[in-house]
Amino acid sequence: MKRVRLLVFNAALGVLDYRVPEGMAVEHGSVVIAPLGPRQVLGVVWEADRLSAQDVPESKLRPLLEVLPVPPLPAQLRRLIEWTADYYCAPLSSVARMALGSMAALRGGGTATEYRLTGAEPARLTPQRAAALDALQGEQASIRELAELASVSEGVLRGMVGAGLLEPVTVDLDRPYPRARPEFAVPELSEGQQAAADTFVAAVREHRFAPFLLDGVTGSGKTECYFEAVAEALRLGRQVLVLLPEIALTENFLRRFEQRFGVPPVLWHSSLKSSERRRAWRAVISGEAQVVVGARSSLFLPYADLGLIVVDEAHEVSFKQDDGVRYNARDVAVIRAKFEAIPVVLASATPALESMQLAEAGIYKKIELPDRFGGAMLPDIRIVDLRQEPPERGHWIAPRLVEEMKERLARGEQSLLFLNRRGYAPLTLCRNCGYRFQCPNCTAWLVEHRFSKRLACHHCGHDVPVPDACPECGTADCLVACGPGVERIADEVAEVLPEARTALVTSDTMNNPEAIGEFVAMAEGGAIDVIIGTQLVTKGYHFPELTLVGVIDADLGLEGGDLRAAERTYQQIAQVAGRAGRGEKPGEVLIQTRHPEAAVIAALANGDRDAFYAAETESRRDAGAPPFGRWAAIIVSSEDQAEALAAARAIGGTAPNLPDMLVLGPAPAPLSLLRGRHRFRLLINARRSAELQKALRDWLEPLQFPKGVRVNIDVDPYSFV
Ligand code: ADP
Ligand code: ZN
Repeated sequence: MKRVRLLVFNAALGVLDYRVPEGMAVEHGSVVIAPLGPRQVLGVVWEADRLSAQDVPESKLRPLLEVLPVPPLPAQLRRLIEWTADYYCAPLSSVARMALGSMAALRGGGTATEYRLTGAEPARLTPQRAAALDALQGEQASIRELAELASVSEGVLRGMVGAGLLEPVTVDLDRPYPRARPEFAVPELSEGQQAAADTFVAAVREHRFAPFLLDGVTGSGKTECYFEAVAEALRLGRQVLVLLPEIALTENFLRRFEQRFGVPPVLWHSSLKSSERRRAWRAVISGEAQVVVGARSSLFLPYADLGLIVVDEAHEVSFKQDDGVRYNARDVAVIRAKFEAIPVVLASATPALESMQLAEAGIYKKIELPDRFGGAMLPDIRIVDLRQEPPERGHWIAPRLVEEMKERLARGEQSLLFLNRRGYAPLTLCRNCGYRFQCPNCTAWLVEHRFSKRLACHHCGHDVPVPDACPECGTADCLVACGPGVERIADEVAEVLPEARTALVTSDTMNNPEAIGEFVAMAEGGAIDVIIGTQLVTKGYHFPELTLVGVIDADLGLEGGDLRAAERTYQQIAQVAGRAGRGEKPGEVLIQTRHPEAAVIAALANGDRDAFYAAETESRRDAGAPPFGRWAAIIVSSEDQAEALAAARAIGGTAPNLPDMLVLGPAPAPLSLLRGRHRFRLLINARRSAELQKALRDWLEPLQFPKGVRVNIDVDPYSFV
C-alpha cells in the first residue's frame, strides 16, 4: 500500500489519509502513529472504501511515522466496530478505542518496573510512611498505583525508595499465563446437562454462528454445561470470552474455573493494574490468552482466534453501558459471534423478554435445564401481605419473617434478607422544620450512611458528614431517617436476633475482591447466620446452608414505572429466591409486599413464570415496546438550564414526520439535574420497519449547538431517567 486511510483516535478528526513511506509495511488493521500538525496521533489503517473522507491530492499527503509492534486488528473486529458505531449512533473512534489497551501495551512487550516493600522496619517513621508501610503489605505495583492504594503522594513513596523501604522489581510483561487444562477435572454431568453440553461442544467444533439461550433454573448447573464448550475450544486451541455482569461475581467464577481447568482464567476489568492490563491485552491479541473473563469492556478486545462467547446472567441490566458508547454488551456479543462465525451462549435463569422472543422466533436456539442439579428442590415462595401483617412501628421486618429467621438460627441454618437500597435511609429530614437533605448537583435526596457517618448522593458521589444540627433551622439532634436501607435492616436484625452473626453485603462494604472472598469463605464456613444485602447478593452464590430468603420490599422496583420495571422485579426476586435451598435442605422464600395482587408478585408466588412472560409480552406488544417496536432516547444537557431547554426545543422542532416513528418530548428528564447538568429528554418510539438510526442521523447531524450543550443518543435505552 502506498496510500492509507486512517481512523484516528479523536472524534473531531475522524478519518485522515496518509502516505506510506518507502520500506514501511502496513496492512488493514495496523496500528500506526501519524503526524498531525506539530503533534502525533494514533490511528488504525482502515479499508478506504468503508470510510468516507475528504479527497486529498497525493502530493499533499504526509508520511506515516511508525507502525506499532502489535498484530493488526483483525477484520472481524473492524466490522464489529463499524456495526456498533452505526447501530448505536456513536463515533467510530470512540468504539475503536475500546479495542485498544493502553499506549504502553501498543508500544510492545519488554519489562516494567514495579515496587514492593523490602521488609525493612526503621525505628522512626513519619506518619505518612508508617501509613504507607501498613497499607502496602503484600502489594506490588507501579508507584502511581501504590500511591493510590496507600492514599499518600507519589513523592512520599519515592522518598521511601530512597530510604530503602521500597524496592524496584522488574516484571516481564509478556510472561506466559499458565495453560488451562481441558481434562483437569471433568465433572459427571446429569442427563440434561450432558445433552446441553453436547450441543454446545458440537457448535464449537463446527465453527459457525450459532446463538443459544441457555435457560436453566437457579442451581441447575448452567456453568458446568458451558464449561464443556470452553473445554472443547481449549482442545482446539481457540480463545473463549466469558462476560460477567459485574466484577463482584468474578471471585466465585474464578474459583470454579480453577477447580475445573486447573488454573485461573485471564481477567479483564477496569481495576486491573497497568502492568496486568498490558500483559492481558498483549496475550489477547497474540492468541496466548486462552480464556478471558471480564466485564462488558472485554467484548471489544482484539482476540486473535475467538472460538466461543458466553454471556452469563445474560438478563442483567449492567450489560448496558449508560455513558460514552451506549451499547448493550449482550446484544453486541451476539453480533460479534456472527462476525466471528462462532457460537454464543446467553445463560440465565430469568432471560430478558427480548431474548425469550428471539428464541420463540427460532433465531436463538433455546436449551432448557428445568431441574436443579443433584435433586435439590426449588424453594417454596410465600407472600407476606404487609397490610395484614405489618411490622412493628419503626420496623421493616414482619413478625412472620422474624419467626422464620429465629427458627433458622435455632437450627444452625442461614437466612438472607434482600433490599435493593444502599445506606441507612433513603431520605433524611429535620423533625423541627421539615428540611430535606438534597444533592446540590442532582435531583436526588442524600442517603444517610451510618457506618461512614456521611450523607451521600448515589448519582454523583457528592458526600458530606452528617451534621449535628439542621442546616436550615439550626436545631440540634433533630434529624430523622425516613424509610429503610440495608444498614437499617441490619440494625433491626441486631435488635430482634441479638445473638445472630450478620454480614452486610453492598457495594459500600464489598468493594474489592478480598472483601468478597472473605465474605464467601465466612458464609460457606457457617460463620454467618444472617446475610443482609442489595442486588449484589442476588446471584451467583451457592450457600448450601441458606434455607430462608426474605424480600423486604417487593414493591420497590415497581415504583419507577419504566418499561422494564415488572420484568426487573421478577428477575431480581426470582434470582434472590434462587439462593435458597440449594443444598440438601429445602428452601423457603417470604416476599413482603403491599400489592400481592400485582401480576408479577402473583406469578412469583405461584411459580408461574410462563404466565408472567406471556402477560408481559402482551403488554409490550400493545405498547409497541421492545421487542415488538423500538425505542431511542435523545438526552440534551447543559450546565445552563435555558441553553439546554433551547437546544432540546430546537431538536423537537425539527423532528422528522415519519409514518413509522413517533417522537415524544422534549420534557425535563426525571433526573432533571445530574452532576450539575440540566437535562431534557426526547423519546422516539419506532416500528421495527423504521430505519431508526438513519432517521436519527439525518435529523441531528445538520443541527448546531452551543459548546456547553451535550446531545446523547441512546438506542434501545434501559434507563429512562
Ligand atoms: P446455576 O448457575 O445454574 O444457578 P450452578 O452452575 O451454580 O447453577 O450449579 C449449582 C451447584 O451445583 C454448584 O455448586 C455446582 O458446582 C453444582 N453442580 C452443577 N452441576 C454439577 C455436576 N455435574 N457435578 C457436580 N456438581 C455440579
Ligand atoms: Zn448528586
